[in-house]
Amino acid sequence: MNKRRALVLGGAGFVGSHLCDRLVAKGAEVYAMDNLHTGRLENIEHLRKHPRFSFIEHDVCEPFHLPVDRIYNLACPASPPHYQADPVKTTLTSVLGTLNALRLGIKCRARVLQASTSEVYGDPEVHPQPETYRGAVNPIGPRACYDEGKRCAESLMADFARAHGADIRIARIFNTYGPRMDPGDGRIVSNFIMQALRGEDLTIYGDGSQTRSFCYVDDLIDGIVALMEHPSFTQPVNLGNPEEFSVRELADLVRGLVDTTSSIVFCPLPEDDPKVRKPVTNRALELLGFEPKVPLREGLERTIAYFMTLPDARPRVVSARSLIDARRAKNGSSPTRAASGSGARSYKRALI
Ligand code: NAD
Ligand code: UDP
Repeated sequence: MNKRRALVLGGAGFVGSHLCDRLVAKGAEVYAMDNLHTGRLENIEHLRKHPRFSFIEHDVCEPFHLPVDRIYNLACPASPPHYQADPVKTTLTSVLGTLNALRLGIKCRARVLQASTSEVYGDPEVHPQPETYRGAVNPIGPRACYDEGKRCAESLMADFARAHGADIRIARIFNTYGPRMDPGDGRIVSNFIMQALRGEDLTIYGDGSQTRSFCYVDDLIDGIVALMEHPSFTQPVNLGNPEEFSVRELADLVRGLVDTTSSIVFCPLPEDDPKVRKPVTNRALELLGFEPKVPLREGLERTIAYFMTLPDARPRVVSARSLIDARRAKNGSSPTRAASGSGARSYKRALI
């Protein structure tokens, strides 16, 4: 690892910034590329003056060139409200970002790791999910821009390997949490912690019986780096914590850890919300020795400690609707007008 020159696409994001930390600590020269769509400069502020770290503001949908030997492609909004706010842009980011990463990989003979997702399994009929399961994704639902974008990215990775000899690694990442999550991005862990800290009711979508498996970010980074450095394995590898919790259980755990007056409020379940999710991690264990070490309670304590350091003037917890309305307001159209607008207009806006 010592002399590696690594490019981290999405390096100012939650996971990307932790990856930059780890690569710098391992002696690599690190370039973080990000358009700051959901990422934040404060995530990498501590690295900005490091002699082996550089930040490049750039949209991965446009080609880029840097002489590197490792490319980690994490550039893509990951929270449902964010990726649904501009769905066409989300698809383009996954597809064009991966294409540009692969083209650079071929030019520089660099290895490319794609941050894929458990969302490629959709609302799974097989539980838990092994890498051999092909998934049940609704290709025209509100989550499709993310799920199908990531599936297409995997397909590009495999085709570049077959047709052009690209050196690829594919990590299928399951729900990950930890410090530097954006407190306003609408994901369950950040929502619940912020709500508990503010004494607001925790918003459970549906009846809270749906399950997720939550991996602490340090454990995920162990897996990502080990996979990138595996000498030969090019098939997808699940990375996540196989312990499974219901949404209701997570709400109770967070309320128990934060001294809060919060109660629980039940809200409508978003369309196509997966009912269960838990990785089979045998492949990661056998190939990489990957075994998550941080139990949920301990990881939550560390994450709560981080959120408690944030100033009060943080963005409020958001829903997909409020993000979409905010985006439309920024683009100069009222929510009502935009809602009745044509698909062509939304598409044009996504390309701008
Ligand atoms: P994040 O939103 O914090 O990070 C994504 C980063 O990509 C942000 O910094 C954002 O500004 C950047 N980005 C988005 N579009 C871009 C573009 N067009 N050009 C350049 N940069 C762009 O999310 P995260 O949780 O850190 O996720 C990182 C990656 O891991 C994503 O690809 C996500 O799909 C994947 N992943 C994350 C999880 C999770 O639970 N955190 C689970 C599965 C997969
Ligand atoms: N969820 C919830 N309340 C919230 C945010 C999310 O009940 O305030 C639920 C959501 O419906 C899903 C699960 O928590 O079932 C995980 O949601 P998240 O957005 O974190 O990630 P997903 O796994 O759906 O991509």
